[in-house]
Amino acid sequence: MTDGPASTSLDPQDWSELRAQGHRMLDDMFDFLAAVPDGPVWRRPPDEARERRYTAPPVQPTPLARVHEEFLDDVLPYGGGNLHPGFMGWVQGGGSSVGMLAEMLAGALNANLGGRDHMPIAVEQEVLGWVRQMFGFPDTATGLFLTGTSQANFLAVLIARTRALGKGVRQDGLQAGDQRLTAYTSAAGHGCLDAAMEMAGHGSRNLRRIPVDADQRMDLDALRAAIAADRRAGLRPFMVVGAAGTVDAGAIDDLAGIADIAQAEDLAFHVDGAIAALAVLSPELAPRMAGIERCDSLAFDFHKWGQVPYDAGFLLVRDGEAHRATFAARTAYLQRSDRGLAAGDWWPCDYGPDLSRGFRALKVWFTLKTYGSAALGAVMAHTCALAQELSARIEAEPELELLAPTALNIVCFGYRAADADRLNAQIVVELQEAGEVAPSMTRINGRTAIRAAIVNHRTRRHDIDALVEGVLALGRRRAQLADAHASASASVKIGSVEGVQA
Ligand SMILES: *Cc1c(COP(=O)(O)O)cnc(C)c1O
Repeated sequence: MTDGPASTSLDPQDWSELRAQGHRMLDDMFDFLAAVPDGPVWRRPPDEARERRYTAPPVQPTPLARVHEEFLDDVLPYGGGNLHPGFMGWVQGGGSSVGMLAEMLAGALNANLGGRDHMPIAVEQEVLGWVRQMFGFPDTATGLFLTGTSQANFLAVLIARTRALGKGVRQDGLQAGDQRLTAYTSAAGHGCLDAAMEMAGHGSRNLRRIPVDADQRMDLDALRAAIAADRRAGLRPFMVVGAAGTVDAGAIDDLAGIADIAQAEDLAFHVDGAIAALAVLSPELAPRMAGIERCDSLAFDFHKWGQVPYDAGFLLVRDGEAHRATFAARTAYLQRSDRGLAAGDWWPCDYGPDLSRGFRALKVWFTLKTYGSAALGAVMAHTCALAQELSARIEAEPELELLAPTALNIVCFGYRAADADRLNAQIVVELQEAGEVAPSMTRINGRTAIRAAIVNHRTRRHDIDALVEGVLALGRRRAQLADAHASASASVKIGSVEGVQA
């Protein structure tokens, strides 16, 4: 059969032209990645580029080269900054060139990993096997890729409630039960846990926020007391969530201690490991994850410390039966067969809410195989070492103060001043706009902190120095302005001094 392509086919008539353009696009991206450290961390997208985004849906074709030019002009220079070595704002990964290439291959395959009998499913299973081994889970444990830890935490709540109420809760709903279910996490636990309880129908008020100690770790006596109080009130504690890395300060809960309590109290023990679970890949950091191998479920992100391009969240579940019982459904169009395309005994759509799923596993597969997990572990240990250096610099500078202990790769600090909250918030914004380093702002123990989360494999000592110098320079300039203001108002009454009010 020598039929040409269908007249409506989107494939090109002439592959050689597309091939040449495709190679130019790939080369542009290599040039872009190579030059990332030389550019600013971030620049505000210009108004004109935004205004060009208000358009009608394109009906007629535009040559690929023209569309690509528009991308180069309007999009590429104005990213969120997380590729840059000076990006320390939030816990975001830096991605990698290998990850980019894998994304391209996955795009070409256009695989749908909901289920059926094809090799991409086997690759996701292979990665699941690696994850089980990395965390010391049994072969019966199940798991799958999801968008991120927010989604994985949500699924974990649903699985934990299946464990508590049986799978009948899927049909009967929560109204059928007469007991209110309560879950527990620390005051420093991530906000997406509230959202998970809300989306699951339990209500965020039934997520108890347990106080933290001076190291931002969950106070386990307070946890025991909260569980006991809820039981006395006739409520039904069902789940406790420990943090392997809190979002504000990178604190690691006493996971083994929580495992003991969960066991004694018959609660599901879930770990939010978005930030730090992958520290198990570093021989130096792994001991800090002690107890993680005992959890019932674990949510984490390959797209943060794992440096895999967005998005690549993962959920690992010890009790594969409970996991399947929470989501699997039988419908005619999803019927399985012993042979043919509809065969295969592992359909990821049985383990989560998504039916159509992309091939996230491929970029993780490429990243882990190409660099090796030891190299990723070394990146993590290096970012922790940089965080320790930063902490030491802060403690040595009388004008600066640490606002939380540095357990991992996140440093919270401030410039000392009478109006420190306002000043430090202003320093953060000015540093972001200046474009050399980009920290973020958070609140620790009721105080505004400059937060440096060092996650990116590209971050160097030079970037740490630039952060310290930048904060000191902005803080000192402010102190000088305040002095000038004080002496000016002492001598002559003037209206205001520029900058002091900001
Ligand atoms: C980032 C983060 C989350 C949310 O993960 P996403 O991948 O952004 O959905 C949850 N918990 C912690 C501790 C985080 O740092």
